Amino acid sequence: MTVNREIHLAARPFGEPRPDDFELVAAAVPEPAEGQILVRNTWMSVDPYMRDRMDEGESYLPPFQLGTPMDGSAIGEVVASRSAEIPVGATVVHFLGWREYAVLDAAAATVVDPALASAETWLGALGTTGLTAYVALTEVAPVREGDVVFVSAAAGAVGSVAGQLARKLGASRVIGSAGGALKARKLVADLGYDAAIDYRAGSLAEQLAQAAPDGIDVYVDHVGGDHLVAAIDALRPGGRIAMVGAISSYNATEPVPGPSNLFELAAKDATLRGMLINSYFHLFPEWIGKAAGWLADGSLRTEVTVAEGIERAPEAFLDMMRGGNVGKMLVRL
Ligand code: NAP
Repeated sequence: MTVNREIHLAARPFGEPRPDDFELVAAAVPEPAEGQILVRNTWMSVDPYMRDRMDEGESYLPPFQLGTPMDGSAIGEVVASRSAEIPVGATVVHFLGWREYAVLDAAAATVVDPALASAETWLGALGTTGLTAYVALTEVAPVREGDVVFVSAAAGAVGSVAGQLARKLGASRVIGSAGGALKARKLVADLGYDAAIDYRAGSLAEQLAQAAPDGIDVYVDHVGGDHLVAAIDALRPGGRIAMVGAISSYNATEPVPGPSNLFELAAKDATLRGMLINSYFHLFPEWIGKAAGWLADGSLRTEVTVAEGIERAPEAFLDMMRGGNVGKMLVRL
């Protein structure tokens, strides 16, 4: 019998999760029922939204249950099929990550073309990561010709796509912030940013004023907190902010106060709009149609940070939350 190793949530974290909040469990490989497929997962994704699901409260996705496998995006090869729709050998993306083998209804899997892009790319730039950048900059805070665009967590999965995309959409200047000198250098050298802010190196507001002396038109917020305050201050009249994430508060143990300067949005006739990528999945074909071409011609560069083996998945998640990744953080199974 082949063993299926999977990661369970062992305890609900208080503040920053710890390695012993997770447990590696060996289970039997499940058998597919009629209409189901068995997938050998080859890669899985770790994402910031998973932190919220480790808490008890209901969010837009249900909380992880203690003592059961966690879930999230994964890609793998179909090794057994009882579905006429999906044959053995197909490559599928689905939502039963955090385990080496997954059984699921064929309808819950999306067949992807491994010749079009690598497995890593299907979980990254061609997955919800890339789509998030696209939606933020076209639907939620649309970039107009000549705009100055600011992106936080700019060296991360969404941020590393967003900078390059903003330029493609007509931005005249793209500024990214990230933690540490190495990442800041990488933003300009490899990820298409015109200017970089190392938010750990000094005042964010001062560095933003220096990078964008005349202000910004669009801000893609992945961080919240002081980043959002600085961006609202720097926003030009008619500016747009996409509230994509607020990772600076995901481990908070007390409610975090909102920005003190919110009313500036009224005075500037500006927009701050939240987004949930699940509401935009209908745009996947449009995004993949564009991004696949850019990936193929080299005009969209992507990076991944890889952890090896299911046993390292919790560490990969913790590392990503602390900024240990450049580009998309993935686990190779
Ligand atoms: P990511 O950027 O690849 O990884 C998270 C990054 O956050 C880390 O690499 C780290 O980079 C940064 N970070 C962590 N703590 C921070 C802090 N206190 N201050 C500033 N930066 C901090 O993750 P991602 O998957 O691309 O997600 C980025 C954001 O988008 C997250 O907030 C996520 O929740 C959000 N998101 C939302 C949606 C949606 O539907 N609304 C969809 C996808 C993602 P540094 O080293 O630079 O600190």
